Amino acid sequence: MQYLSTRGKMAPARFRDILLEGLAPDGGLVVPSRYPRVDSLLAGWRGLSYAELALEVLSLYADDYERSELARLVGATYVPAVFGSEEITPSVQIEPGMHLLQLSHGPTLAFKDIAMQLLGSLFEAELDRRQEVLNILGATSGDTGSAAEVALRGRARMRVFMLSPLGRMSAFQRAQMYSLLDENIFNLAIEGSFDDCQDLVKAIGSDLAFKRRHRLGAVNSINWARIVAQVVYYFRGYFSVTKDESEVVDFCVPSGNFGNVLAGWIARQMGLPIGRLVVATNENDVLDEFFRSGRYRVRAGKETRVTSSPSMDISKASNFERFIFDMVDRDPQVLRELWWQIDTEGCFDLKDTPFWNAVAASGFVSGRSNHADRLATIRGQFERDGRVLDPHTADGVKVARELRREKVPMICLETALPAKFSETIREAIGREPDRPAAFVGIEDLPQRFEQLPADLARVREFVQTHAL
Ligand SMILES: *Cc1c(COP(=O)(O)O)cnc(C)c1O
Repeated sequence: MQYLSTRGKMAPARFRDILLEGLAPDGGLVVPSRYPRVDSLLAGWRGLSYAELALEVLSLYADDYERSELARLVGATYVPAVFGSEEITPSVQIEPGMHLLQLSHGPTLAFKDIAMQLLGSLFEAELDRRQEVLNILGATSGDTGSAAEVALRGRARMRVFMLSPLGRMSAFQRAQMYSLLDENIFNLAIEGSFDDCQDLVKAIGSDLAFKRRHRLGAVNSINWARIVAQVVYYFRGYFSVTKDESEVVDFCVPSGNFGNVLAGWIARQMGLPIGRLVVATNENDVLDEFFRSGRYRVRAGKETRVTSSPSMDISKASNFERFIFDMVDRDPQVLRELWWQIDTEGCFDLKDTPFWNAVAASGFVSGRSNHADRLATIRGQFERDGRVLDPHTADGVKVARELRREKVPMICLETALPAKFSETIREAIGREPDRPAAFVGIEDLPQRFEQLPADLARVREFVQTHAL
């Protein structure tokens, strides 16, 4: 498998070459040269364990690895001790024809663990092979940072510098990150907003000499290996609600940066019988607007609203470029023009172009949820069967109910557990969400973090001093 850039100016590369990278050198996103079709393999994949299925999918995209090495890596990653069950991503019916694919039983209680845990193993193996070290620099408002830190803690060739906005995360999220006392983890609590944190990371990363000198890397949502890891559970979810490969299912995905649902699109392109991919957004409805109108308009930072499903609070969807690349027949020239329009005018519109037909045929539809919908969905589900949905998952379930079809099973992706968002749960149902035993009292554990002003020189200096 060869990898290319959506902007068309990267020399073809293999999986190992792109594994540790963020953006392609030309500013685009890395994509595989094709999506391998697996129609004839599907029936044989049905009975596989999660790790076996992950091996099959991964070996199509990482064919520069020995199969035995991939088998070792996925086998060590997808274990019940880490993900809480033999199935890894169990599914459960929440009403007739509607299922929840549970992706949140990993160590930080959000779906990001599934990809991040594999990424930790892949990074370590590659750095061992190259005899190199890597300093991961990132910004987080919650879920990504803790999933990355837990996946990378204690790994000898890596250090993690994670910027988070001081005092802006929940006590639970803070404890999840700051109570990691491993020597390779550095939590930088920045006196500023999440946007300030992101700007600092961008500013440091754009100094290429500094980046190279200190071997800086990232694990953000555009990393290709993370997307591939997520493709696996679409197959898993499909097999768990169908009896044979003649059946079609729909998926509904609570979305922000478009990484999760992009993996569904890839599974569909590979031949998994997915009918519709339902994108659910919160009040930050950039994606819903696009799928309804054809207009993709990125929001200014201050236009982005702080909501009660915070992990979907985005001003632009960083993985969207990969999908649009497919919609424009993978023509990098067209893609570059569209992104030039975003840079100059803040938007593009596909409605009256030939490409809108491709979007209509893609199976994508969308809907939107708001705070009141979220609370009502959590409350309604709780009253019906005692199940407590996390706020992001509730956005998905709300939209799935509006867009589900007769006789087509709908699989809603559960993206986090409610324990992470107790304030909203209390508001919805008047009680605390249950907490997995391992998390009881985590707010009282000793914490280690470095408080720094939102000042580029100070943050740079900290990274420089503590990097490997
Ligand atoms: C990251 C996240 C999302 C959004 O996923 P994308 O891949 O960015 O679309 C939704 N829900 C939760 C709980 C998340 O952590």
